[in-house]
Amino acid sequence: MQPTTSPAVSHPPTTFDGRPALLDTRGRALRDLRISVTDRCNFRCTYCMPAEVFGRDYAFLPHSDVLTYEEITRLAGIALELGVRKLRVTGGEPLVRKSLPDLIAMLAGLRTTDGEGADLTLTTNGSALRPLARPLADAGLRRITVSLDSLDDATFRRMNGVDFPVSRVLEGIAAARDAGLAPIKVNMVVKRGENEDSVVPMARWARDEGLVLRFIEYMDVGTTNGWRLDDVVSAADIVAAIEADLPLEPAAPAYRGEVANRWRYRDGSGEIGVIASVTQPFCGDCTRARLSADGKLYTCLFSAFGTDLRGPIRSGAADGDLRTILERVWGARTDRYSELRTEATSHLPRVEMFAVGG
Ligand code: SAM
Repeated sequence: MQPTTSPAVSHPPTTFDGRPALLDTRGRALRDLRISVTDRCNFRCTYCMPAEVFGRDYAFLPHSDVLTYEEITRLAGIALELGVRKLRVTGGEPLVRKSLPDLIAMLAGLRTTDGEGADLTLTTNGSALRPLARPLADAGLRRITVSLDSLDDATFRRMNGVDFPVSRVLEGIAAARDAGLAPIKVNMVVKRGENEDSVVPMARWARDEGLVLRFIEYMDVGTTNGWRLDDVVSAADIVAAIEADLPLEPAAPAYRGEVANRWRYRDGSGEIGVIASVTQPFCGDCTRARLSADGKLYTCLFSAFGTDLRGPIRSGAADGDLRTILERVWGARTDRYSELRTEATSHLPRVEMFAVGG
C-alpha cells in the first residue's frame, strides 16, 4: 500500500488588505493613483516652486506633451482594473487646467473591481475653488483637500510667493462646503521660521470649522527648494505645540496604508493628522503610484525616473499592453526611498513635487 500523502496545503491568495491586489516585491498593494494634470501652478510656494527658480522664462511642458483627458481616463481605468480604489487629481495646480470638471466627470464614470465608483478626490491650493467647487461636485468629485499654510494673511501671502490673500482660499473652502464636498481636508506644510506660529491657530480654526487638518513636515522633495533639516518642524514638535493648548490622544489608522498619523482631541471635538515623512519615514504600507502630467508613472515621490506611458499610448498600444506595463512596473517595485533617502539617494536626481503631484 502506498503511504498516504498529506493533502496539498492550500495557501490563501496573498492580499494586502483583504482584497485581491497587485502586489509589489514588498507585498504592497497598488491602491492609489495620484494624477498630475499639469505641471503649472499660479502659486510660487517657497518650499515647492520658488519664484527665483520658476520665473517668467521657466519652460513648463508644452501642451502637446501633457496627457489629454481621454489618455488620463484610459490609464486610470486600467489602474482601477488592477485594484486601485482611490484617484487623486493634483498638479501643479489642477484648477488651472481648462475644463477640469470634464475630466472629473470622465473619472467618476470609471468603476473599481467591485463595480463601485473610485474614491475620487482632488488636491488644490484653493485659489480658484470658489467658482469651481459646484461644477466639480456636480461632475462627481466626492471630497477635496485644500492646501493652506496659514490663516495669517501676511504669512500666507509670503509663503505662496505671489501675494495671494488668504480670504480667497477661505471663500473657496466655504464654496466646497456649500457644494457638499465632504470631508474637506486641509494640508499645512510647516516650515521653521515661516509659519510655525500658525500651527495652533490653524488647529483651533479647523476644529471649529469641522475640517480635517493635516500637518506636513517640510520635505526634501525635488532639488530646487534649498531644503535643510534645520527648517523642518518635526511631527513631534507640532503635536506637542497643539497638545499644550488642546489635549490630544493617538487614534488608530483608518485603513492600512494611511499616510497621516491621526490624533484625536480628548474632548471629542475632532482630529488632526500629521505626516512625518522626514522624521518617521515609513514605506512599508505605501500603496501609491503617481502619474505625471506628461504620462510617466512613478512609484515613489523620491524616484529619479518614471516609466513612460504616453509613448506607448500614442503609438497605438492596446489596453492589454498598457496593463502589462503597469503590472510589470508595480510588480517589480522595490523602492523604499523615503526610509533610505538620507543615506542612499541624496546624491541622485529627483523628480519635483509639482511635476508628479503631492
Ligand atoms: N497645487 C496643489 C496644492 O497646492 O495642493 C496640488 C499640488 S501640491 C505639490 C500638493 C501638496 O504638496 C500641497 O499640500 C503642498 O503643500 C505639498 N508640498 C509641496 N512641496 C512640499 C514640500 N517640500 N514638503 C512638504 N509638502 C510639500
